[in-house]
Amino acid sequence: MPFELPQLDYSHDALAPHIDKRTMEIHHGKHHAGYTAKLNAAVEGTDLEAKSIDELMTSLDMSNGALRNNGGGFYNHSLFWKVMSPNGGGQPSGGLADAINRDFGSFDSFKDAFSKAAATQFGSGWAWLCVQESGKLEVCATPNQDNPVMPGVGCGGRPILGIDVWEHAYYLNYQNRRPDYIEAFFNVVSWEEVQKRFEN
Ligand code: MN
Repeated sequence: MPFELPQLDYSHDALAPHIDKRTMEIHHGKHHAGYTAKLNAAVEGTDLEAKSIDELMTSLDMSNGALRNNGGGFYNHSLFWKVMSPNGGGQPSGGLADAINRDFGSFDSFKDAFSKAAATQFGSGWAWLCVQESGKLEVCATPNQDNPVMPGVGCGGRPILGIDVWEHAYYLNYQNRRPDYIEAFFNVVSWEEVQKRFEN
């Protein structure tokens, strides 16, 4: 089994009240665990077994549904847990803050663009903040478990922040109020982690 469900850096209740304990238990312990198991099944016995998740994503055959959905699910959730923290919230500083101001005008304008991408993604998917080859920051969204690292999804660059807008990410606590969940997400964003990913 090449892929293992990553442990959380915090307890299931650590992000409450913004993200509730039960949602975290099911989201990490059932959904992410499920993507991990199905990803392992998809690569088992093939020459893909030796590849890293990054290699699998960048070289993905988009017609391979099992790998696209479950590899994407594994990659996306692994990023998602890391960019949140009980000590999160506030605003970025340093080079990331400068880049946000340069490319969006202000932190509030960035937050509006990101929140809008997340709120208007029809059905299930993700919204992302990505760094382009040129260093420019861009916001975009992808359906289902697609992500910007996959070829040809029309949303490129290296993702440094992502929000899961599948109903399983928020429905227990927020029901149909996705915008409230998106607003609450900003209270747990680990800008320290996003900054680290920006610099890399
Ligand atoms: Mn999810």
